[in-house]
Amino acid sequence: MPRYQPMSALNRNEYLNKMSSEQLDLLIIGGGITGAGIALDASARGLKVGLVEQNDFSSGTSSRSTKLIHGGLRYLKQGELKLVQEVGQERAVLHQNAPHIVVPEHMLLPLVQGGSYGKIATSFGLWLYDRLAGVEKQERRKMLSKAETIRKEPLLRQDILRGAGLYVEYRTDDARLTIEVLKTAATQGAQCVNYAEVTRFIYAEKNASGKDKESKSESINGSRNENIFESKDSRVIGVEVQDKRNGEIYPIYAHKIVSATGPWADQLRVLDNSLHGKRLRLTKGVHIVVPYARFPINQAVYFDVADKRMIFAIPRGESTYIGTTDTDYDGPLENPNVTTEDVTYLLQAVNGMFPTVQLIEEDVTSTWAGLRSLVDEEGKSPSQLSRKDEVFVSDSGLITVAGGKLTGYRKMAERVVDIVMKQLHTESERVYRPCTTDKIILSGGDFLGEDDVIQHPSEAIEPYIQQLMLDSYNSNVDKKQVTDLVLKYGMNTTQIITIYKQLMDKQDYHLEVGGENEQDCLLAIAELTYTIQEEMVTSLDDFFIRRTGRLYFEREKIGELSPILKRVITDLLS
Ligand code: FAD
Repeated sequence: MPRYQPMSALNRNEYLNKMSSEQLDLLIIGGGITGAGIALDASARGLKVGLVEQNDFSSGTSSRSTKLIHGGLRYLKQGELKLVQEVGQERAVLHQNAPHIVVPEHMLLPLVQGGSYGKIATSFGLWLYDRLAGVEKQERRKMLSKAETIRKEPLLRQDILRGAGLYVEYRTDDARLTIEVLKTAATQGAQCVNYAEVTRFIYAEKNASGKDKESKSESINGSRNENIFESKDSRVIGVEVQDKRNGEIYPIYAHKIVSATGPWADQLRVLDNSLHGKRLRLTKGVHIVVPYARFPINQAVYFDVADKRMIFAIPRGESTYIGTTDTDYDGPLENPNVTTEDVTYLLQAVNGMFPTVQLIEEDVTSTWAGLRSLVDEEGKSPSQLSRKDEVFVSDSGLITVAGGKLTGYRKMAERVVDIVMKQLHTESERVYRPCTTDKIILSGGDFLGEDDVIQHPSEAIEPYIQQLMLDSYNSNVDKKQVTDLVLKYGMNTTQIITIYKQLMDKQDYHLEVGGENEQDCLLAIAELTYTIQEEMVTSLDDFFIRRTGRLYFEREKIGELSPILKRVITDLLS
């Protein structure tokens, strides 16, 4: 019997029908990392969970970050010790649970004359950072002399250099982390659907006879319902969802509704008539990508910029990416734009600290911009605003979670689901169950299995790659291709290789490319097939941007693959 696929693009209608035909315990609006984390936590605690996302999963901020699981060194400077401790400790948990996508990475922090960090303060700061985060001995910070720093990173500007701190952060792929959390939630029973937008809230109000009477909010695109409750006595009991792929409308009812909509959170609060008190302040962060050959740094660097901010330069495969800016933003929430000014700022930052590199605009191969949704505090600049998360519960019962970081998503989810469980316990005597997500291995991350004696999950990745190479004997895949897949899909790579072998046997697709490229193409078809069946890919944008990151980091490969992959996706989805 074929395996049930809880996140197949082919079954989206079925999932929406199912969600619409039963009352959920919890409906989550928003399929970024925050919503995904809540879906996993709540379904693991036994709740009947649904999640709807208006575009693709992670298409908001959760595919547009700096892609670091980090303790947030700069929050130390802002005195946010508790935040540093929590997110620092989370790095170890996430590495343990998803070793294929949360990977340790050395970060160099050059100390320069007039820079943000002095030598003694840095040495102490990094020491404290390691202690708060519970960093293992071999990963603790090292302070480097000027000569040692230059040996490590010869491209650095040397006249103002005083030395450096070398410490460990973790790199990730934000969009893949989000999808792996969602896939894990789906195996725990959560139903998650993309391209499904919440357009209205549905309320119940006690009328004179004491019975519930139903009404709807104004719709998100402004059309008014004749029967709107603005009374504080109305209770949110559901939402109307529009399937953006075919226009169909589904009412979905749930005991509890959480809005995890990041930058859109205030829009949903307006829809709920509950935008009072604290508001969001949006700031834009831009990244640029250049070929690694043009900016060949030996490891990630976190360096000073002339305006006293600090930015990252991070090597990734054949590219290096640089970010970020931090400026107030009030434009459209979908696809915030990257201006020439943003690009110039980042190029100047690199050229100032790495003077022999001299990047120009033509070196930039791609860019992305994301919106931080921070809880506003009067009189503070964008960079001074806290990255802490906050939860608001409206009079109607809508629970909104705002702020936060990718790194802290699991703890944030725990706080939100604790509130949901407590409310359900009080209102309907549901058994309260505590959070268990620190022990849940994410989809693709179970390299150790049950009886394995290896302590460190990352040590088990290499043997798995070797095993895959043995299993793929005779099928022309090389180690780099397998490794690249494993670092995206973890142990689910086995499924992709199986599809690839079936394609080789069947020769279904007539490929207009030859030799090595033909085999690259077949592997990409296998990858696309897997992501349609298991990760709800509905378009090539979903595939190239969020499931594989090719648009940002391997743009040159897209041109050749696009025509054949277009045929494949049309075949599979029709
Ligand atoms: P989002 O990812 O924006 O998700 C909200 C979702 O809600 C969206 O997908 C949206 O489409 C959906 N939605 C909205 N309205 C509706 C509706 N009506 N119906 C259905 N769905 C709806 N954090 C780190 O830990 N490390 C980093 O390196 C890092 N770097 C960053 C760099 C930048 C430039 C930025 C901007 C942020 C960075 N962050 C980082 C922070 C981190 O990316 C965010 O905290 C996190 O991604 C927010 O996730 P979210 O799920 O709350 O929001």
